[in-house]
Amino acid sequence: MEQRILQIALDTPLHTVFDYCWRPQEEGEEIPAIGHLVVVPFGRREAVGVVVGHVQASELGADKIKNVIAVRRQMAPLSAHWLALCGFAADYYQRPLGEVMLPGLPKNLRALTTVALDKALKALDKTPAPKKRKAKARAAGAEPVDPAELPAAEQPQALPDPMQFGPAPSLNAAQQEAVDAIAGADAFAPLLLYGVTGSGKTEVYLQAAAAILQRAADAAQADGRPPQDGPPAQILVLVPEINLTPQLEGNIRARFPHLNVVALHSGLAEGERARNWLAAHLGQAHIVLGTRLAILSSLPHLKLIVIDEEHDPSYKQQEGLRYSARDLAVWRAHQLGIPVVLGSATPSLETWQHAQAGRYRRLELRQRAAQQAVLPKVKVIDMERDKPVDGLTSTLIAAVRKRLEHGEQSLLFLNRRGYAPVLACDACGWISNCMRCDAFMVVHRPERRLRCHHCSLELHIPKSCPTCGNVDLQPLGRGTQRVEEGLHAIFPEARVLRIDADSTRLKGSAQSAFDSVHRGEVDILIGTQMVAKGHDFKKLTLVGVMNPDTALFSHDYRASERLFAQLMQVAGRAGRAGLSADGSSGEVLIQTRYPHHPLYQAVTRHDYDGFAGELLDERRQAYFPPFMYQALLRAEARELEQAMAFLKEAANILDAPAITINEPIPMTMMRVANTERAQLLVECASRPALQAFLKEWLALLRQLRTRARWSLEVDPVDI
Ligand code: ADP
Ligand code: ZN
Ligand code: ZN
Repeated sequence: MEQRILQIALDTPLHTVFDYCWRPQEEGEEIPAIGHLVVVPFGRREAVGVVVGHVQASELGADKIKNVIAVRRQMAPLSAHWLALCGFAADYYQRPLGEVMLPGLPKNLRALTTVALDKALKALDKTPAPKKRKAKARAAGAEPVDPAELPAAEQPQALPDPMQFGPAPSLNAAQQEAVDAIAGADAFAPLLLYGVTGSGKTEVYLQAAAAILQRAADAAQADGRPPQDGPPAQILVLVPEINLTPQLEGNIRARFPHLNVVALHSGLAEGERARNWLAAHLGQAHIVLGTRLAILSSLPHLKLIVIDEEHDPSYKQQEGLRYSARDLAVWRAHQLGIPVVLGSATPSLETWQHAQAGRYRRLELRQRAAQQAVLPKVKVIDMERDKPVDGLTSTLIAAVRKRLEHGEQSLLFLNRRGYAPVLACDACGWISNCMRCDAFMVVHRPERRLRCHHCSLELHIPKSCPTCGNVDLQPLGRGTQRVEEGLHAIFPEARVLRIDADSTRLKGSAQSAFDSVHRGEVDILIGTQMVAKGHDFKKLTLVGVMNPDTALFSHDYRASERLFAQLMQVAGRAGRAGLSADGSSGEVLIQTRYPHHPLYQAVTRHDYDGFAGELLDERRQAYFPPFMYQALLRAEARELEQAMAFLKEAANILDAPAITINEPIPMTMMRVANTERAQLLVECASRPALQAFLKEWLALLRQLRTRARWSLEVDPVDI
């Protein structure tokens, strides 16, 4: 019988694809298409892989090559575009292809049994049609199949005819211009939607999406075809964290009541995640709303990508394949020749620089959208003059009291969870160091625990000092729990709600907390960066920033960019729906010991442009990104020496005149969870030159013998 060789990508650290032999199980059975999932033997186990090539012969001898065990023919093959996306990511981030492809698929689809896959398909397969059977026949049929075509034939969900949209406000001129620019793009168009907080960026996304979907439906009609034969269209909307933006999902569903809207994020149950992923893959989902992981989903009819709050650090994956979803989105749009919208009031400096250089088109929304809403008044409070009690200055307390009297909400922002960052003994100087990390254990009073936020070690709060027995241990400093306690004491009549990672541990609890703020059941909200992002709290008129100063003196060159964005964003929660009861605009009070610091001064002026310009000048002069390309080699081991020895060898293994190879150094927080960590930064002014170097370098590094575990990050953000 005929036999053929397939190249298969598997989820292993080995930088190669694997040859397997395929033989038809029955007469006339066709070779699996490129993009099909298959099951193969791998070592002593079986593994699911993706077919990435057909070859005539294998270098493996006939006695070595193993047979494909099963082909997942019930699932349409992944498209050529998806394969190219994974290929690009693997290449750019220097990872094995299979380590990009397989973790990118929902668990249920790459399971060794087909139970979950079949169940997910069945749930989607409500309307089998003759067309569908034809598609299945083709999927199994003539070779070589162009996999890009197949999902289209796999019965994409028809756009309704005529299209119906939920009620929408009429756009202001700036919004309209932005919508026209997005929907009018008929080729690759990277667009920065630079709109101040509350300027109605969401409305721009929704109406641009509507216009693009409408056009697809119209095109079908103009051709005299029923809509299901017209060009389908899919839209991908990326958000930093879906649990923090339930509002957006609700808005999208209300605006497109007849379309299939699905969510993709890590909080979904596996079954739902598989279903939603397949709905996107089969063209049934018109709109996919997801977090960074959704950028790796299969969307055969993608026509628009939106990245909301594009500056947000959570678009960067910080383990495994350390990718930037924002950068992959731009690559994807480029590959497909479609528009990509990067929305923010505080764009990342990378994006801002692209716009300044004319590579991205800038669309501006300079004013708040809602009736009478203006940007809030921002003031700094000098904590040296107005000494805080329980962390709150008298100015801030008076401002909160005024809002309480008006029945309006206040938000206090403190980016530190827990009760206090450290527990200390006055008598002997003992402090609550983590025994496994270079970090303090944080006091969590409601849970009566000390917790390390780096290695998750937990201990009971000791009743007395472990060293000297003193029973009077003192919490030092202040986290959100302690502020919450203080607020109850100062405002006993107020309804106080704390929102942070601890208070929202249970599934659905973040959503219900935000719902109660929206319903007006909360007077004072205290929270971490979770409350700073994106929310449209209509009754909130005061924002107090409690202790932002530590970030001013960070060794991390990105710290001021981040702090500035965070303050502009949290300030942007105030006064979004109009004026306060006394006719004033929203108000933001920043408590600081450095009231004249240029960063705070820029926030009071709402001056993103000016501050971004200054930061970019600094970066240019210091040869930092975005004017320099970087990669970071990290190593960790039991002993620092082992990690350093590996990095020193790495630093000398390859000569490359265009590349700056810095000295290996221990990380700032050297020890975490009993491993010791070091890093080596390499830099180059040319991205292609750096890429070429990395390829060659990694091939050499893989041959080094070391006890250290190591990994490489391209475009690192925390260095
Ligand atoms: P952003 O995402 O830019 O911070 P949002 O999209 O949340 O802002 O919009 C802020 C508020 O303005 C929302 O309550 C929204 O409903 C309202 N809004 C947006 N566009 C308009 C418009 N054209 N007319 C009236 N209100 C609008
Ligand atoms: Zn002591
Ligand atoms: Zn620890």
